[in-house]
Amino acid sequence: MRTESPKQSFTFSGLLCSTLGHDYVVTRKITNHINEYRCTNCGKEVTDSMTGRLEILTSKTRQLNTSLADFFQKKMRRKIPVSYEKANL
Ligand SMILES: [Zn+2]
Repeated sequence: MRTESPKQSFTFSGLLCSTLGHDYVVTRKITNHINEYRCTNCGKEVTDSMTGRLEILTSKTRQLNTSLADFFQKKMRRKIPVSYEKANL
């Protein structure tokens, strides 16, 4: 007896991904540890979360990543003038 949900639709790419796993490529680098990825087979988008797991990329997480990337870049940029100031003291 089959217990599969009738709502589930199987596409070839979806089947490929569920069998072999998603083929993710990095679409955006957020920080040194956090990236956004897209599956080249089914187009599923995920992101590294703060907990180190992969999370589905929603408009909310995308927005969060944007502000995180912004914050990270500012932090990285700030590192240079601080050491420069110290050198001048
Ligand atoms: Zn996939």
